[in-house]
Amino acid sequence: MSSQKNSKKIVILGTGGTIAGKAGRAGDNIGYTAAQVGVDELVQAIDGVAALAAAGRLVTEQVAQVDSKDMSFAVWTQLARRVHHYLAQDDVQGIVITHGTDTLEETAYFLQAVLQPAKPVVLTCAMRPATAVAPDGPQNVLDAVAVASWPGAQGVVAVCAGAIHSAQDVQKVHTYQLDAFSSGDAGPLGFIEEGSLRLMRNWPVAHAKHAPIAIKSIADSSAQAIWPYVEIVMNYAGASGAVVQALLAQGVQGLVVAGTGNGSLHHELEAALLKAQAAGVEVVRATRCLNGRVLPKPGDAIPDSKGLSPVKARVALMLQLMG
Ligand code: ASP
Repeated sequence: MSSQKNSKKIVILGTGGTIAGKAGRAGDNIGYTAAQVGVDELVQAIDGVAALAAAGRLVTEQVAQVDSKDMSFAVWTQLARRVHHYLAQDDVQGIVITHGTDTLEETAYFLQAVLQPAKPVVLTCAMRPATAVAPDGPQNVLDAVAVASWPGAQGVVAVCAGAIHSAQDVQKVHTYQLDAFSSGDAGPLGFIEEGSLRLMRNWPVAHAKHAPIAIKSIADSSAQAIWPYVEIVMNYAGASGAVVQALLAQGVQGLVVAGTGNGSLHHELEAALLKAQAAGVEVVRATRCLNGRVLPKPGDAIPDSKGLSPVKARVALMLQLMG
């Protein structure tokens, strides 16, 4: 494996997920409890990773132990701090984060937006629990370590089932199959095959012109209050403005609407969103379509999400409001 070629350390941060899940019966791939196995135990059982540890090149840390459906701002805050900390160490080559699949794309987008790292930060996961007859977690971790060790690799990416996806494009698209992620129109960033990298396009940009905006306030604050209140609403047949009105009454600060098709909206929902906008709420229009992006038209009252899915547009809007 390429990781043997250099002497720097790989850090593996555990956050839970199915990859750390346990079922009562080995054949059960769905009736399990996520986030049970500690990251140390998880990775020490993998040959290639244990070799890294034996060479003194592995650091592990349990940052959280959650089913990622329950991902919270508190975990994001802690994770961003620890990733930021390790990125600053000269003897660290790259970072791997074990994470649940359900919200992996949100965490990946969040970390890329606030850190834009010049080193690789690789999120990986599993669709089957650690107790499965044929768990997918160990190979995913091995692949993620290979990517994190690769000279020149940078930015936040996700590795699952041999494919490397950028934080910008990655999306969970399957409820059950092991190859559960897609990069949509963009396609994967590359593939990792027997420890070798096949890159299809450039790594995510590091330290772009718009410097990381929120890491300072996130690192300096333990307060939940720094996270703006942003919700997602959806367009569908028979949609009304009721949900938007209820959220306005709750003090919502930002709204992402998952429109139909090219961001189209039922006229009642649109009227409620325009009212919210007039009242000072930031409104962004995304699409509920899996592929494509909302193409803006002259005179659009509600700005588009610049190709971001609704969940990522929400993260972007929170960071914008935070900034
Ligand atoms: N619910 C799990 C999680 O997101 C699913 C998974 O990891 O595959 O933590």
